[in-house]
Amino acid sequence: MNAPRIGITGNVRTVSGADRTGVNAAYVRAVLRAGGVPLILSPLIEPAHTASLLDAIDGLVLSGGEDVDPAHYGHAPHPGLGSVDPSRDASELALFREARARGMPVLAICRGIQLVNVALGGTLWQDIPSERPGAIPHAQGADRDQRTHPVELTPGSRLALALGATRCDVNSFHHQSIRDLAPGLLVTGVAPDGEIEGVESPPEDAWLLAVQWHPEEFHHHGAAPDHGLFDALLDELRGRLAGTGSVTASGRTERGPARSVR
Ligand code: MN
Repeated sequence: MNAPRIGITGNVRTVSGADRTGVNAAYVRAVLRAGGVPLILSPLIEPAHTASLLDAIDGLVLSGGEDVDPAHYGHAPHPGLGSVDPSRDASELALFREARARGMPVLAICRGIQLVNVALGGTLWQDIPSERPGAIPHAQGADRDQRTHPVELTPGSRLALALGATRCDVNSFHHQSIRDLAPGLLVTGVAPDGEIEGVESPPEDAWLLAVQWHPEEFHHHGAAPDHGLFDALLDELRGRLAGTGSVTASGRTERGPARSVR
């Protein structure tokens, strides 16, 4: 069986006066580590080509980045709103919606969990520090692979099974979070201040996992629980490509007894 092809949504950045389109190498390395073949999907590719892109991949990773334009959930811009990228919003909303229509497995990270919630009809806090008094720090100054706050995970959830734990300390590089949860999503990861850090599809629906932290940044760590998120995506895809159908939350993604990860 060929290795599953994982599309990773990318960004556009201006570096040394030149526009470049790509994605942080950590996403590519994390997918390679799990045994997938990563393909970077540029947001410059317009929604008209969504079907062509999805035909070329087996699974989708929605990566981190800019804020989602609040126009997509019917809110006026808050003064704390960060930069937005209209073409990226359009590209990723189209990719995610069509991926779901096809039943394609999706792993969504940081901006990705927000994009998923908006695409399914939810809303966002646009700026945690100014809109959520009492919130713990979610925009850490520490290195990208340092864990700065815990997340409590729902036992038995896709998320807990993938991480092999019911609690996980995570890194945190976001100033937005889910406000009103979209229909069809389950909250399975929560920070101590109540901010939503993990959501997923119900067991009977196509595989969807979304986290607010950056599991890809631990790709070079020997035994990080975060590897389990990418491994679970690849396990799901191998099961589908082998023709054994969908793998449930209680099935092959299970990684032994729950443990606490610090
Ligand atoms: Mn956080």
